[in-house]
Amino acid sequence: MIKINNLHKTYKNHAAVRNLSLDIEKGCIYGFVGPNGAGKTTTMSILATLIAPTSGSAKIGGYDCVKSPKEVRRLIGYMPDFFGVYDNLTVYEYLDFYGASYGLSRTEREKIIPQMLELVHLTQKEDGYVDMLSRGMKQRLGLARALVHNPEVLILDEPASGLDPRARIEMREIIKTLGNAGKTIIISSHILPELAEMCDEIGIIEAGELVASGKVNEIHHKMHSQKMLKIRLLDQWDSLVNRLRSTRGVANAVREDDFIIASFTGTDEEQATLLAGLLADGFPIVSFGETEGNLEDLFLEITKGAGS
Ligand code: ATP
Repeated sequence: MIKINNLHKTYKNHAAVRNLSLDIEKGCIYGFVGPNGAGKTTTMSILATLIAPTSGSAKIGGYDCVKSPKEVRRLIGYMPDFFGVYDNLTVYEYLDFYGASYGLSRTEREKIIPQMLELVHLTQKEDGYVDMLSRGMKQRLGLARALVHNPEVLILDEPASGLDPRARIEMREIIKTLGNAGKTIIISSHILPELAEMCDEIGIIEAGELVASGKVNEIHHKMHSQKMLKIRLLDQWDSLVNRLRSTRGVANAVREDDFIIASFTGTDEEQATLLAGLLADGFPIVSFGETEGNLEDLFLEITKGAGS
């Protein structure tokens, strides 16, 4: 449904997106993750036909985002990371205005707007003024606006940003409902565990390049050639950190609260030898195990923070 091929976008001398290729199947919820300035908004703006790429192509439903913007716009609903709401318009009037802009007849608007309000839990607010809504309500209204012409594809640029935990959960549940209804959704976020829970696939973008893409578990498996060892001991913290740092197969070791976390690339046998060696050297080890990597760890491991 979304096909991006060797996409490149340069602002003056700065390459914001570099050789990005991506295929998103119909009905997929695709999470786009990356540090600040990684190129998420730039990529999404190209998909939304708002800016043109420097080279490469982006197609939605077979239509090229540069050559056939009208056709693409009919297929997509776009929720930007920042959007204004107008003063002196009620929630209903706001959606009515956007519905009319998309060419919906009055009858069509009268049918779809109550449905959208119900979906985003704003039915009670239909006569309220949009500038009086809370941040969470405004974000949900933005989502309703993106949906008013019943698009097949949704491009959601950080829809949960700035929301409190409850509002984030509500937003996530609405997006899941849309996914279950068969929409193809590309969504960006910094809230990684949430993306893992709601997305079928994720792509990790850093400094304009897609550094990993696929099912969350598959990426995890591919990238996690190293284990994170978690060690607790009674004392001698600094000397164990130094000892680990000079051990073959240990990429790094740091103290984190009551544990030492070490990234280790050795085999199980080498891990057993390491533990035996540490005990033989008299380190008072209380526990020695592997940590479960999660999406946050994966993200930090892949991106190394370069884009921020
Ligand atoms: P964030 O998570 O902070 O929203 P992002 O991943 O969406 O970041 P982009 O907004 O796409 O990243 O920005 C990518 C890079 O391009 C950044 O270095 C940014 O400063 C630069 N950039 C974006 N828009 C412009 C512009 N109009 N002119 C010049 N540089 C730009």
